[in-house]
Amino acid sequence: MVELGRSLQVVDVNSDRSFALDEAALRALLTPELRALPVAVLSVAGAFRGGKSFLLDFFLRYLNASDAERRSGAWLGGEREPLTGFGWRASLDRCTTGIHIWSRMFPMTLSNGEQVAVVLMDTQGTFDNESTIGECTTIFALSTLLSSVQIYNIKGDLGGDNLQHLQYFTAIARLVQDNDAGYPFQHLKFLIRDWTSDVVNYPHGAEGGRRLIERVLQVRPEQPPQLQELRRDLRSCFENIDCFLMAHPGYNVGTQGFQGCLADLQPEFRTCLLELVPLVLAPNRLVVKRIGGQKVTADEFIHYFKNYMDLFNSGNLPEPATILQAAAETGLLLATEAARAEFANHMEQCAGARPMAPAAVRRIHAQAVAAARELFTARRLMGNRQNIDQALARITTEFEGRLQDFITINEANMGKAYNEAVNQYVELVLGTTAETRLCVGPAALEDAHNAAYATVVQGFKDMFEVTSSDNETKQLIRDINARYTSLVQINEMNNSGHLSGAVNEYVSEMNRQTEGQPCMSTSLLNAKHASALQAAMDFFKSKRNHSSDSSHCDSYLERLERDIVNNQLVNYVRLNKANTAAVVMAVVSNYKDRMAQVFGMHMKCVPPRKFVEKERDVRVQTRKMYQEKIEVAEGEPDSHWVEIERTIDQHCAQVQENNVELNIGAVNAAIEQYRKLMDNKTEPYPALLRWVLSPARLIQLSLDLRRYHQASKTEAIAVFKARRRDELIEPNDYYYEDLKAKIIELHKRYKNPLQIMAIELSNPLLGHDVMSGLNNDDSDD
Ligand code: GDP
Ligand code: MG
Repeated sequence: MVELGRSLQVVDVNSDRSFALDEAALRALLTPELRALPVAVLSVAGAFRGGKSFLLDFFLRYLNASDAERRSGAWLGGEREPLTGFGWRASLDRCTTGIHIWSRMFPMTLSNGEQVAVVLMDTQGTFDNESTIGECTTIFALSTLLSSVQIYNIKGDLGGDNLQHLQYFTAIARLVQDNDAGYPFQHLKFLIRDWTSDVVNYPHGAEGGRRLIERVLQVRPEQPPQLQELRRDLRSCFENIDCFLMAHPGYNVGTQGFQGCLADLQPEFRTCLLELVPLVLAPNRLVVKRIGGQKVTADEFIHYFKNYMDLFNSGNLPEPATILQAAAETGLLLATEAARAEFANHMEQCAGARPMAPAAVRRIHAQAVAAARELFTARRLMGNRQNIDQALARITTEFEGRLQDFITINEANMGKAYNEAVNQYVELVLGTTAETRLCVGPAALEDAHNAAYATVVQGFKDMFEVTSSDNETKQLIRDINARYTSLVQINEMNNSGHLSGAVNEYVSEMNRQTEGQPCMSTSLLNAKHASALQAAMDFFKSKRNHSSDSSHCDSYLERLERDIVNNQLVNYVRLNKANTAAVVMAVVSNYKDRMAQVFGMHMKCVPPRKFVEKERDVRVQTRKMYQEKIEVAEGEPDSHWVEIERTIDQHCAQVQENNVELNIGAVNAAIEQYRKLMDNKTEPYPALLRWVLSPARLIQLSLDLRRYHQASKTEAIAVFKARRRDELIEPNDYYYEDLKAKIIELHKRYKNPLQIMAIELSNPLLGHDVMSGLNNDDSDD
């Protein structure tokens, strides 16, 4: 048999004779499993050294025993097992006045299945020689008030003075009856120790006790009136009064070394214990503590203990009315607290951080008030009905007053939930689109909005058990739509910002590719534009924080392209046009300048092949210059050069024509020179021949003519050469050959002196016949 726990002194007497309550020790009884259970409080009171503690140790053995041990009686313990527990003592020195409690409560199941907690209470110093009457009465009264079974331990016989001690309680009882609150006290058991007298009529045990108490409480006419009254009052004071006659334990109890072992106790005493203890503690016998008819829980027991203690400490023995009032007040207080706890318990769901529909708060609150009121009214309460009704009205008002608090809390929670829902919405939208800065295509933003909207609104509805038509949801939808509007604006702003960044990217890319001064073919410019546009698009897309955006048609990209084409590209096109036009002009005029340098000096001509050669050089230079200035893609048809060539071809034709004319002029001038020289020489011929016509003379003249021809020809060629630039004659020179042919042709006229004369005389036939033998001399040049 294992005994757990120890005896705790919870009430002590101070040096000033006031009582000290060790509330902490008392509270230590309240284990979480037992604190809410109704208590059965067993107290033993009576004179010092009456064997109270000794007896309680047997109660402890019973409580610690198993069901089987209880049934078999083995709970009584071993023959040689020393009795321990509350600390009974063999010596005469007195223990301190006070109340001891076993340090733990014992859970027991009543025969009706109800769970209770059993408290064992030991009192000391009651009605002994040394304690003052006040102290003793106080301890006795206190233990009677607090217990459900008070065992009044009396040694020897039940005398009239024992009843006198109970006078005090009868006064309380009378008051209680006036209040119609049932019995104020519960079981009172007179336990007569060492019962030896008249064991024939009053045998040991419950039956003998019943007979004895019948006799003692009998009202008889010869008794003084106040004793008659006392007996009557006691009957109505305790719900149950009985008596038990204990046998003497035997004379070993007084001997040295007595340890309370069963072996040292008389069999009659053991029989009494086996009958007495289950009578008090068996499941069908245990009495639950009630005050004013209301069952008292372990928790409440401590409250009553404290309140009664205060009462008894306030001076003399308190007036019965005061005790009653204290009991009523405590009962009312506990009922109020219980109602508050019930209310709080119901309202817990509204006080949490989780908001609910406002209608639900009102509904739960109404239920909580009803439940709390029901709990309050279900309790049996002592005292003034009006006070009880007032207390109920007060807590009802108090609970009603709390409604606004809960509504406010709920509203705050609701506000928080709105914010959280809206934040969740924003997070969802940004989560599927961005880490930080929102920049997505409008369609992507709308998709993200729709998805987040659906999730958040549904989550909100589920949380509050509200529908779409409820104001709460409507409010949330308004908030979310407002956030969407602002997200759209932010997105628009960010997109626009990046659009201008992208345009800058285009411009700098174009400037890099064209060095700021585009001068190129249109197709090359277009190619550069396309690659710069791509760079701008890539730049813009890199600022986007939504990768799955590509499936959407993106108005911003369209806008970017439009903006670049309309506002940027046109500038480059215009500039390129102006630049290329200037270059074309410069190239053409450079050609003309070079041509003038080559052909235009001193109006001199050049041979035809030389002309072509020189012009080709100029053209190559011009082309080179052109290529340096205008960029053209490889393999691309070069429209600017075609245009330039058209112009320079025209110019070239003019210059060439001029050269031809100069060459023709040079030939003519040379022929003229030849003719003039030959004419001069042959002018005297007709006169000469008319007068001196002889063969010798003719031969002489012919030889002269040949000489003249050579000299004139040389002169003529010199004239021709002088008109040529650098006196240049090229092989197979067309004009030179022409000149020579023309000289030969003309020379024919100056070959035959007779012919010359005939020509002078206008008879060419004559001259021809005469000179036919002298003509073979033109092969000398
Ligand atoms: P308490 O002061 O009332 O708590 O008395 P105790 O339990 O300390 O017992 C005082 C003495 O009485 C001890 O020596 C016990 O052995 C002895 N005692 C216990 N029960 C009885 C009894 O029924 N009759 C007699 N005569 N002595 C008892
Ligand atoms: Mg004792």
